[in-house]
Amino acid sequence: MTLCNPKVWIDQAQRDGCAVAAFNANTAEQIQAVVLAAEAEAAPAIIQVSHNAALYFGSGNATLGLRYFAALGTIAAQSVSVPIALHLDHATETEVMQAIALGFTSVMFDGDGYALEDNIAVTRKLTRLAHDNDVCMEAEIGAVPKPGDAQIDEHDLELTDPDEAQAFIEATEIDTLAIALGSVHGVKDKHLGIDLARLQQIRARVAVPLVLHGSSGVTDDYIAQGIKLGLSKINIATQLNKAFTLAVRDVLAQDDRLVDPRKYLTPARAAQIDVVRERLRFVGAAGRAELIP
Ligand SMILES: [Zn+2]
Repeated sequence: MTLCNPKVWIDQAQRDGCAVAAFNANTAEQIQAVVLAAEAEAAPAIIQVSHNAALYFGSGNATLGLRYFAALGTIAAQSVSVPIALHLDHATETEVMQAIALGFTSVMFDGDGYALEDNIAVTRKLTRLAHDNDVCMEAEIGAVPKPGDAQIDEHDLELTDPDEAQAFIEATEIDTLAIALGSVHGVKDKHLGIDLARLQQIRARVAVPLVLHGSSGVTDDYIAQGIKLGLSKINIATQLNKAFTLAVRDVLAQDDRLVDPRKYLTPARAAQIDVVRERLRFVGAAGRAELIP
């Protein structure tokens, strides 16, 4: 299929009390793993690339990286019969505009560092552009810490304020809202909880689907409760990188004379397919054949 705007599946997941999973990719093999797993589970899935992934794939040139990912994502989507979306995560204003022009079907503007009024103004402008191009628009209120943030202290987390979230939605008309509930990007083991009471307060004020970033560090029990209480898109990155890299390490550890990348990337891709399939089942969008036109 051609790349799809995921808004209709995310809205449906919200109505059904389940979630759509979005999987970050840094390499071609990781993109292939997402679509092969989605096909195996008869589930829609979102391929997600970040600003840093675009920088990596473009050897320091994010625009070039976005062009690579647009081409790879398009081919990956066409290679399977389930709906696939291509999302640009945590992007700048310029990158969002570039991604829309390149055929991404979902984008997230990261206004972290902007004053609220400026964040609203830029987000509203980008939302109009996205909607004119049938692209799903995500933005964030509050901040989920990123790897490398100076000091991540749970008492200093900038969690989403429910009133601010409501005002932001009304002013910007975005499709999905990323909220900060205590998760942290880049955490390698599942041990964190999320603020479920805050989630309920936000859900009571905001009608659009809510997005959890940094799910790899959050226990499955909390994610499951969060989905029941209104999280409709779950972003998954570190958990995939971990499976992929552990598989590479395992193969290389067994043969220090191995030099053919295919010999270690094939098992890495297979290991990631297993994790993507498991996550698709877990968030509950797997087997949703009615979403496939
Ligand atoms: Zn994120």
